[in-house]
Formats: sequence, C-alpha cells, structure tokens
Amino acid sequence: MESFVYTTSPSHVIFGPAGKSSSQLLNRLECREHHAVLILSTPGQAEKANVLAHALTPNTVGVFSKAAMHTPIEITREAVQAAEDLKADSIVSIGGGSTIGLGKAISIRTGLRHFCIPTTYAGSEMTPILGETVDGIKTTRRDIAIIPETVIYDVSLTMSLPLAISITSGINAIAHAVEALYAPDTNPIIRLMAKEGIGALSQALLIITASPQDLEARTKALYGAWLCGVCLGSTTMSLHHKLCHTLGGSFNLPHAETHAILLPHTFAYNSPAVPSAARDLAYALGDAEGDAVKALNSLLDRLSVSRALSNYGLREEDLGRAASIAVRNPYGNPRKVEEGKIQELIRRAWAGEHAK
Ligand code: NAD
Repeated sequence: MESFVYTTSPSHVIFGPAGKSSSQLLNRLECREHHAVLILSTPGQAEKANVLAHALTPNTVGVFSKAAMHTPIEITREAVQAAEDLKADSIVSIGGGSTIGLGKAISIRTGLRHFCIPTTYAGSEMTPILGETVDGIKTTRRDIAIIPETVIYDVSLTMSLPLAISITSGINAIAHAVEALYAPDTNPIIRLMAKEGIGALSQALLIITASPQDLEARTKALYGAWLCGVCLGSTTMSLHHKLCHTLGGSFNLPHAETHAILLPHTFAYNSPAVPSAARDLAYALGDAEGDAVKALNSLLDRLSVSRALSNYGLREEDLGRAASIAVRNPYGNPRKVEEGKIQELIRRAWAGEHAK
C-alpha cells in the first residue's frame, strides 16, 4: 500500500432535500448568530437571490447581484463596500463559480463568514482556491481561509440550469476528478471520491440530456459535482487545468466549454504515463474494454458537446502562441510537457477532431 497524506475540509456540507435550502440556511445562520446577511448572485440569478432574501427576512441586509465570470477586482471592491455600508455580518453566495468566487473574494478580505448555495456543477464551493482578475490578468491563490464555512446543496435550484450549461459544467467537474486520479498528492480516499464522482456525473448527464427535468438525475449530478469539487480542492491539478486556464485567460475562451472540449485531448496526452488512472477512468465511465480516451470521446459525442475551440473564437494563427504560453511556466505533470506536442493537442481541439 502506498503512503499518503489526507487532509479533511473544515466546511460543513448539507446535501438536500429539494427545496429546503432557505430553512436549512436559516438554521445554520441562527446557530452561528448571524442576523445581517448580504446575498450575492449574478444578474441572471437575481430572482433566486431575492426569493432567498425574502425567506431569510429579517436576517437579510441586502442583495448584491453583480457577480461576474473570473471575479473582476472592481466588482469585488464594490461588493466589499456594499457589505460595509449595509453592516453585513456574513455573506451568502447563491449561484455558480462566478458568484461563489465573489463570496470567497469578499470573505478573505473582510473575514465575513461565507455560506454557499451552489447552482451549477463547477465545484468551487469545495475548494480553498480563488481566481481573481486584475487589469485583464487572472491570478489564482490557495488559502484554507477561502473555503466557505457552510455549503448547502439544493437540487431544486439546479433545475433551471440550461441543458448546454449543465453538460459543460458537469464535464468541467469530471475534469477535476480525472486530474485528481493522477495528481502528485492524490490518495486512496480522493481516488474513491473521484471514481464515484465521475460515475455519478457521467450517468446523470446522459439522462439529463434526454430529460433535463429528471429530479433523480439532477440530484445524482449534484452529488457527483460535490465529490468532484472535493477532488479539485484536495489535490494539485496538472496539464488539463493549466491549459484551460491559459486558453481562458489569454484568449477569452469560455470556462466550462473549454474544459469540456480539452478533457479527452489532455487525458490522451497523459494517458501513457498514468496507466492505473486510465484503468480507473475507463471503469468509472463504464468502458468494458478499459479504453479511457475512447470512453471520453464517446461520452462527449453522446452528450452532443460542441468539440471545436474554433467555435468559441480561437483562431488558427493563435495556436502557436497558445502552446508557447501553456509551456512558459513549468508545473507538475505526469508526462513531460513539450511545446510541439501541446501545439498539436491544441490544434486537434481547435479543429474539433477526436482525441487519440
Ligand atoms: P457561472 O457561475 O459563471 O454561471 C454561468 C451562467 O449560468 C451565469 O450566467 C449564471 O447566472 C447562470 N446560472 C448559474 N446557475 C444557474 C441556474 N441554476 N439556473 C440558470 N442559470 C444559472 O459558471 P460556472 O461554470 O459555475 O463558474 C465559472 C467560474 O467559476 C469561472 O470564473 C471559474 O474560473 C470559476 N471556478 C472556480 C473554481 C475554484 O475552485 N476557485 C472552480 C470551478 C470554477
């Protein structure tokens, strides 16, 4: 048996039942003696935030609905000011990774307790990681104080997630678990969670594709997303996440879609160096022949995921620069990261070819 280190997360996680998140949150806030909550959301999720504010009355001091992708510093400053002006004693983020990112950014600056109700599958709620954008450059930091204190999963809030976002957000989550399978700091517990998370999410997404309002499948997807989020928060990510970060940051590509397109390619690149992870992944995806790359290709096809980065604005003349940026800062990866090979990987993803 290998030696390993396993660190548990300090956050309190409440999973379900459907439609009970506001009463569960109220209990939790009372338990922690918080009576002046500022609720955060994106503009698109303002209605959910207002409904929650109403349910928490009189314990709410306001709703701030300007959360945006990649946590721009200007919005964080405005939100911190709002929290101070309203004398908030805690914050609640209701939304996906963008809103949770804003909650983390406020919490780490002010010390306010952060309660979180995730409504996508991105998994940020389970991580001590915060990515922030200053003058167009996104930097990421890791600090245990960034982890939200309470996370409440309520499947009823995910039923409105449009099908396309559900699928890409779900594959984004699967990518966390895939890289956790071969992370330098992985361990047997995380690998169990990773396999369970990949299995639950992949099965659920196939049902959701045919039937987006299937409550059982949505619940299973949220459960898988939680597990995959734990994997992301507990291990060090490699090539796949670095490449998505580079492409997202430097070429303004959408976060979840980029993850979904690149995952089979990055796994195909690393696969020869991680045979045991490849077996685990194939098994989790239900591939009897043990071919993880084929299983990933097939999953994306069955989920009708758009396969070409060219559809999202990456141009052919950007490919060389993308590869050069991707290899510029060295990072741990099971297989040596070589610029020429990475450029070919990005080219295949750009052209929408299958990974091999
Ligand atoms: P998102 O939070 O930007 O949400 C995408 C869109 O979906 C938004 O318009 C939002 O309003 C809408 N939406 C969210 N939930 C909905 C629902 N239930 N019904 C209808 N619409 C809904 O997207 P995301 O993919 O969850 O998060 C992406 C961001 O999170 C990126 O900035 C990424 O870097 C960050 N992220 C961070 C971590 C971390 O650990 N720090 C992990 C994953 C993602």
